[in-house]
Amino acid sequence: MVYRYQEWTDGLHNFDNHVVLSLELCLFLRENLQNHVSASRVIDSLEGLRRVKFPSRDTIFHAYCHFEALTDTDYMYSCINCGFHPPVVVMDLHRKGVFKLAVSDLKAPEDFNGEHDIEGFWNSIHLEMISRGFFPSGVKNPFSVPPSYTHWAPWIGSETRTSDIVLNTEFQKVGTSSSHEAKLSSVTEDRLLDELAKQKVGVVRKLCKACSIDSKGSRFDLITRLREKMKSRQTYDKVFQSIWGASGGWSVILCPHGIVYSVKFNLRAESPRDFADLLLSWKHMPNVCVYDFARGLVAHTNLRVPDKLPFHPHEGRLAEPTEENVKAAQDGSLKVNLPWLHERMDSVNENPHPVTGSSDHYVLYDRFHEGNTKDPKDILRRIQLVPELKGWLNSQVVEQFFANMRKSNYFLSNMSPSTHVFLMRNITHHYNTVTNKKLLERQLRHGRLGKINISLSALGQAVVAPQVCNKPRETTETVLNPAPSITSGKS
Ligand SMILES: [Zn+2]
Repeated sequence: MVYRYQEWTDGLHNFDNHVVLSLELCLFLRENLQNHVSASRVIDSLEGLRRVKFPSRDTIFHAYCHFEALTDTDYMYSCINCGFHPPVVVMDLHRKGVFKLAVSDLKAPEDFNGEHDIEGFWNSIHLEMISRGFFPSGVKNPFSVPPSYTHWAPWIGSETRTSDIVLNTEFQKVGTSSSHEAKLSSVTEDRLLDELAKQKVGVVRKLCKACSIDSKGSRFDLITRLREKMKSRQTYDKVFQSIWGASGGWSVILCPHGIVYSVKFNLRAESPRDFADLLLSWKHMPNVCVYDFARGLVAHTNLRVPDKLPFHPHEGRLAEPTEENVKAAQDGSLKVNLPWLHERMDSVNENPHPVTGSSDHYVLYDRFHEGNTKDPKDILRRIQLVPELKGWLNSQVVEQFFANMRKSNYFLSNMSPSTHVFLMRNITHHYNTVTNKKLLERQLRHGRLGKINISLSALGQAVVAPQVCNKPRETTETVLNPAPSITSGKS
C-alpha cells in the first residue's frame, strides 16, 4: 500500500515526496507575492543568506501553488461594508494583466451558449496545480487546463453570483457577422486607435513592419495605413496585442472601498461584452456602475436582454436626455438625488436591490474619463450630478489596485495561462482580506465601541453588536463610509 504524507500539523507541506516546504516558507512566499516579490527572487535571497543550494525555482514555485491549491480558501470576494451585493461598483480593464497566448490556438466552438460551470472550471485549475506533485516537470500532465472558449470561467464570489452557471461569451467576439457585433467592434477599434495615437512613432513604425505595411512616412501616414489594414481581424489582433499585451487583460469589478468582486481573464481584445457577462451573472446588479465606456456597455447589455432592459431608466443616464436637462447639466444646475443610497427605500418595483430597495440601474462616468465621450447627452452620466456620490465615490480605488498589480507584472505575465489565473485569483483574495481587515479596524476606531461582537448579516455586511445590547445594530449606513486609501504610504 502506498501512503502519501500530506499532513500539515507538523508544519510541513509535501509537494512531490522529494521537495517538502515548511509552512513558514509557504506563508513567507505568500506575503512576498503581496509585496510584488516573485518566488524565484525570494529563493535567490534565501540561498544567499543560508549559503545552501535550493531546488530549482520552478519546482519551489509549483510547490507553493500546490500548497495554495490544497489550502481551504473561500474566495468570497466580498466587502464587509458593501456585503455580497454592492449597490455601487467601479469597473475597469487592467490592460497589462496578460498571459502568454496565441489567439490562433483558440478554436471557435459550435453549438455553445456561453454558459460555464464556475466551480467545475476552478476545480479543474486547482486539480492541475495539485497534479503537479505527481507528474515531474517535462512529463505531459493530463490535468493541464489550456485556455478555450468553452472552458474558461471568470471568478465571482459564491454569494454574489446568481448560480454556479456564469457567462463567458468571448467566442462571439470572433464573428462580426451581426450588425450589432460589427458596431461594437468598431467602437472598440476607435479606442484602440486612440491608444495607438498616443504611442511613440518608433513603436508605430515597428508595428507597421510587423503587419507588413509600408513603414515610411509620418506618424499620421503610418496610423492611416494601420487603420485601413485593421479591418482584417488578423491585423487588428496584432495591433491589439502589441498595444495591450498578449491576451485581453483582466476585466475587474470593485466596490468603492477597493474590494475586488469579480475578475474575468480575457482571451481576446476587451469589449463591453466582458463586463456584461460578469454583471449578467450577478444575483443583484448594482444600482450604479462606473465605467469609462458607459455608452458601449449600455448598448451591448440592453441588446442582450431586450425584454427586460438591464440599464434603465433613460438607458442608464441620470435624467431624460432632453435639451433642457443637457443644458442644466452643462450649467451645473442639474442635481439628481439618489436618496436610497443612504437609506433603503420601500420597493415598489419588482426585483429591487436588497440593500437600496431601488431597481434603477445607471452607468456613470468617472470624472477622469469624461473626455471619452463625444455624445453631448452623456453629460447626464456624470458622477458629479449625484450629491450622494459626489466627493464620496473614489473611483481611484481601481487605479490603486491596478498600480499595485502592475508591480507584479514582471512575473505574472510570464506564466502559463492556467497558472496565471490561479495565482491571480489567489493573490487578489489575499489582497481583499488585507483591505477588509483595514476597513474593519477603521470602522472600529470610528465607533469606539469597546468590547463588541462582529458578525456578518444575511447580506454579508459586517454587523456590530455591543455586548450590552442583544439586538445587533444594522450598519447599512456604513455602505457610504469613505473609501480609505489602500496604498498605505508605500511607494
Ligand atoms: Zn465596499
